[in-house]
Amino acid sequence: MNRKAKIVATIGPASQDEAVLEQLIRAGMNVARMNFSHGTHEQHATRIATIRRIAEKLGVAVGILQDLQGPKIRVGDLPAPLQLSEGEAVTLYATGSTPPASEGKQIPVDFRQLFDSVRTSDRLLLDDGRLALEVVSVKEQTLSARVVVGGPLTSHKGINLPGVRLRIAGFTEKDEADLAFGISQNVDAVAISFVRTADDVKKVRYAMERFSSGKRLPLLIAKLEKPEAMDNLDAILDIVDGVMVARGDLGVELPPERVPALQKHIIRAANQRAKLVITATQMLESMISNPLPTRAEASDVANAIFDGTDAVMLSAESASGKYPVEAVQMMDRIVREAESHFWEWGKEQAAIEGLESNDAASMARAAQALANDKNVTAVACFTTQGQTAWLMSKIRPRVPIMAFTPDPQTFRRLAFMWGVGPQQVPFANSLEEMLEHVDSALMRSDVVHSGDQVVLVCGFPVGAVRPPNMALLHTVGSDVTMQMSREALDAMTRGQKKDK
Ligand code: PEP
Repeated sequence: MNRKAKIVATIGPASQDEAVLEQLIRAGMNVARMNFSHGTHEQHATRIATIRRIAEKLGVAVGILQDLQGPKIRVGDLPAPLQLSEGEAVTLYATGSTPPASEGKQIPVDFRQLFDSVRTSDRLLLDDGRLALEVVSVKEQTLSARVVVGGPLTSHKGINLPGVRLRIAGFTEKDEADLAFGISQNVDAVAISFVRTADDVKKVRYAMERFSSGKRLPLLIAKLEKPEAMDNLDAILDIVDGVMVARGDLGVELPPERVPALQKHIIRAANQRAKLVITATQMLESMISNPLPTRAEASDVANAIFDGTDAVMLSAESASGKYPVEAVQMMDRIVREAESHFWEWGKEQAAIEGLESNDAASMARAAQALANDKNVTAVACFTTQGQTAWLMSKIRPRVPIMAFTPDPQTFRRLAFMWGVGPQQVPFANSLEEMLEHVDSALMRSDVVHSGDQVVLVCGFPVGAVRPPNMALLHTVGSDVTMQMSREALDAMTRGQKKDK
């Protein structure tokens, strides 16, 4: 049984070597995440090129997800790790300004706007909330603080200010430069961190349009990790193609006990709007240093599947942990096992809202009804842009979705979609030719066998960029030209020629 939910794995020093990347892809990584909070453009370019080369060699679809840092406040470069002790006084100063002549440990901070936003008694959480400071006084670009919870601190750790409304742009200069680079690399999706409002994501969308100069845009994904984003979820969903439940920062910005219900809420809202949803962070955290996960982690991954997530994500486990390949293999096993119980424990997909008059959605629903009625082995989609496969995925048919496309960009996009098995096929000039390509690819797959019936959803005329308008029952391995009456085929071909 093919896995339906997709695995996103973050690439970093532990996984960037060609041999490891190949093992990750073979283990089931569908999407490689490049975290632009770390690494140089050169490093990311090398990783992207290597992944694409291996994917092509193996003939599999692997998507590239660029994750933009957003307005994340971080500790700057520390000459050496610091050990902070409870009660001690520390000074924070803006990176680039002269360090203050104060006593106590000094911590550079990458965001000078931090000093405009904080007040005496505000709490700063460092390193995903492991360390806590309380602000004693703020003066221009420095602040004095007292350590409330101590521990080791290294360079570039995140700083969160729960409850503080930051006066910081949602899309920074660094994000803009990183996005321009990502577009030049033809990344398949772009995620933006610390989204607060729909305006934050609109800015990224506009910049994408500017940099893409007419080319097809990558998917836009909002990382949901701020309380304000939860208040603006509907408006954010209007703009984006997908969301990420970024549980790391979400559980620092809000109390961790609120994360499980928020995860369910986000997944349901995204699914109802036919948006992609990725559940992220600490899924197999203990595998950063252990070859096996905790039972609680296995349950967490499985429960995200039962909640209806499209994809699950590994961060440090695959980027900097000791067991990147084992983490992907383990995630693959947990997901498959959970999916074998999906119809027992999984959430039934509610009707998708707002697509009542959408042709593609109507065709997807019709294909679903036909698939159920005829008890077919798979739904096959011939898709130029991936839209048919996207909607088929979102209505969660019980049978696999085989998606066929001649377009390499669409092929990679299919890698993000729940339940979709991407296949690249040659361009077709007629319905007959398309059916031949699809049929021979189906015959080669291990999902269907000769004689099985599938529902094929496609658009006619073939090759035109248009919503699907046809669903037909096809018996795999039968002579495709015999399936249609010669008359009907001729009429269709005449229509197609006229449309060209
Ligand atoms: C998160 O906070 O859960 C997350 C995915 O963001 P990042 O790893 O970029 O901090």
